[in-house]
Amino acid sequence: MFSKAKELIDKSNSIYIVGHIGPDGDSIGSAFSMCLALRKIGKNAHVLMQQCSDSFMFLPHIKEARKTVEEESYDLLVCVDSSNNDRLDISKEDYNKAKSILMIDHHKKVNPYGDVNCIVEDLPAASEIVYNLINYLDIKIDKDIGAYIYTGLMTDTGSFNYSSTRPSTLMATAKLVEIGVDFSYICDKLNHTLKEPKLKLIAKTIDNMEVYFNGKLRYSYVPYEDIVSLGVEEEDAEGMTNYLRMPEGTEVSVYIRGKSDGTKKVSMRSGGNVDVSEIAIHFGGGGHVRAAGYTITGDLETEKQKLIEIIGGKV
Ligand code: 5GP
Ligand code: MN
Repeated sequence: MFSKAKELIDKSNSIYIVGHIGPDGDSIGSAFSMCLALRKIGKNAHVLMQQCSDSFMFLPHIKEARKTVEEESYDLLVCVDSSNNDRLDISKEDYNKAKSILMIDHHKKVNPYGDVNCIVEDLPAASEIVYNLINYLDIKIDKDIGAYIYTGLMTDTGSFNYSSTRPSTLMATAKLVEIGVDFSYICDKLNHTLKEPKLKLIAKTIDNMEVYFNGKLRYSYVPYEDIVSLGVEEEDAEGMTNYLRMPEGTEVSVYIRGKSDGTKKVSMRSGGNVDVSEIAIHFGGGGHVRAAGYTITGDLETEKQKLIEIIGGKV
């Protein structure tokens, strides 16, 4: 599956790698591991990223990310962890400067774009596809590359808890541990460390919780003004949905946060009986069976009622 990708990489020198807007651990992990690996074989490679949560700042080389393409044109754009090209963290202008595009993704029902794509729907993380590609290219994985692959695998599998975790995911992880990736440090930084305002956001989210269908659906909305007044940075306001799904009997949880541009970001989690990616796709977003999302641009109350009705028909 990687021969066409290798051909593109072989003939390219200037390469940019981009993930999705509002990057999560897998987007960052797959982009930076790809970038560092390409540098090892002499490519002039850079990650494009507008903003990311402070919590990832401990990772090596992360501050080297660029916001824009500096050249008039470049050979290859590698797009990771984004099921459609609308969500890429790059301007249309910079996207169009690429001579070729390689897409690497693992979401459900993707809209393939670019010249070559490597799509594996049943892998839990784009970082696992990148891990396989790096091995196919015969590039030695060092500790920095490994730290990023580990970050992607660990975050997109919920620390290897989600049923999407494959034996191959654990075997890749074992290799990373073998080469000395400091997995315990990465876990501590990403799973057990947060800024105090975020702790208050968890409290606010739970305080605003609404319960429907005998507890099968738990919903919470936090307006943008409240996120600001708590002192939480916009890109750090994610990750609340998992808490809402914890009470016994919850099938689906929905966390909606207001954004600075007036839109609302919807994040859904499911215990597995309901495919939330279908619901997200219906509203113009995407994701996986157990984790999916989309953006609301219209009236919140109207959109909320539509969403609750759809979930009610499934739980
Ligand atoms: P989260 O709830 O953590 O923001 O996202 C869960 C999953 O849904 C991730 O795999 C993410 O990529 C996907 N997702 C979230 N929001 C959107 C969206 O607006 N569009 C698409 N296509 N996927 C999304
Ligand atoms: Mn992912």
